Amino acid sequence: MKQKYIAEPYRIKMVEPIRETTKEERIELLKNAGYNPFSLKSDDVYIDLLTDSGTGAMSQEQWAAMMIGDEAYAGSRSFYRLEAAVRTIMGYEYFIPVHQGRGAEKVFLPQLVTKPGMFYIANIHFDTTRAHVELAGARAIDCVVPDCYDIEHYHDFKGNMCLSCLEETIIEKGKENIAGLIMTVTNNSAGGQPVSMANIKEVRKIADRFGLKVIIDGARYAENAFFIKERELGYQDKSIKEIVFEMCSYGDAFLMSAKKDGLVNMGGIIAIKNDKELFDKCRTYVVPYEGFPTYGGLNGRDMDALAVGLMEALDERYLRHRIDQVRYLGDRLRDAGVPIQFPVGGHAVFVDCKAFAPHIPFYEFPALAVTNAIYIEAGVRAVEIGSLLLGRDPDTHKNKESKMELMRLTIPRRLYTYNHLDVVADAVIHVYEHRHELKGYTFEYESSILRHFTSTFKPID
Ligand SMILES: *Cc1c(COP(=O)(O)O)cnc(C)c1O
Repeated sequence: MKQKYIAEPYRIKMVEPIRETTKEERIELLKNAGYNPFSLKSDDVYIDLLTDSGTGAMSQEQWAAMMIGDEAYAGSRSFYRLEAAVRTIMGYEYFIPVHQGRGAEKVFLPQLVTKPGMFYIANIHFDTTRAHVELAGARAIDCVVPDCYDIEHYHDFKGNMCLSCLEETIIEKGKENIAGLIMTVTNNSAGGQPVSMANIKEVRKIADRFGLKVIIDGARYAENAFFIKERELGYQDKSIKEIVFEMCSYGDAFLMSAKKDGLVNMGGIIAIKNDKELFDKCRTYVVPYEGFPTYGGLNGRDMDALAVGLMEALDERYLRHRIDQVRYLGDRLRDAGVPIQFPVGGHAVFVDCKAFAPHIPFYEFPALAVTNAIYIEAGVRAVEIGSLLLGRDPDTHKNKESKMELMRLTIPRRLYTYNHLDVVADAVIHVYEHRHELKGYTFEYESSILRHFTSTFKPID
């Protein structure tokens, strides 16, 4: 018997109770949080779909591995176990642990910026990646395929790099001004959409032609491999491990937020294929920022949990269930007519709030309106990815209009069941049926940088 959405491939042997609140309480709690879901206490949230970063559940093997964690400052056994796991999976020679993905970016990205006026080119730079490119004195250019913005139509690999855009950009800026090419897999900012092997291979070829390095931003390397196996001709009979190995073979370096497919709550990775000089530079740089190169801000026990997590992420039944959960939620919403990005990606369902609440203009933040309404309805916390997140133009100080107004329902790994997702779906569908009652928001207090985290709002009557 084939299950449409496979059941949890695990039994639950430890439980964390979650608190339910009443609708009256939630109206008050949200008001006290300045109508900004980031300011809610997690204890006041019933189902938390704010992020999939560091929010997953560890396995019994990971908890067991933590017991053998070796807390030596230099050269711990934990470090060598993690290094061996990274070598086995990625096939790279050099490895440095860091405390999370942005630590990897902070240490690695400046190393390739050798003069002023340089550029990194990515399919799409994740927010922190862009920030570190800019902090390194370079600029970030995104060259994602146009399919990415075709919200409601199916494309296999909406996360791909647009190859013509990439080539034209290299030629226009001059290859000597390109610091490196970044492949974000899956493409987080494009909705966790996958990147095909063929695309990674072509980017490698272009990089070789111009003498450039390819950096894989591999936070969701295993989820991306699962999509390749499922959708790309010639990969159906390959194992996830083989696919990951091939993906990595086209890169020169691999940066990772291990809070995603590393299946840990904190951790990150810098791996370098064979450039000893680059490795030495990173190793020198990591000391003042993250710590000695054999711990890089992590406990020995964290490194052991990660060594196990990286392997577990390659398990096909685990991946199938993970992605089935995202699909299940997406299918329930689509069946009810709720506009979502289709197909869903690997870690979240993105609700198209421009179509959901077309009567709310971008500067009154339609996706915030929907996000707040589902919190009030069911205690579900999602996050706005739209014009609020985008911020103001630094020169004109006007609100920038985002191409898409999305509400992200991000699914943590191994944390919730399909029943929880039914609660989420029911809440979103209920709000959709009452969408004409939704009202926009205006600022009560607007913080000047990364305003979505700390600003407060009031509803517009
Ligand atoms: C999360 C993420 C990062 C940043 O990692 P942190 O662990 O949050 O610092 C970088 N790139 C991608 C693609 C990510 O998803």
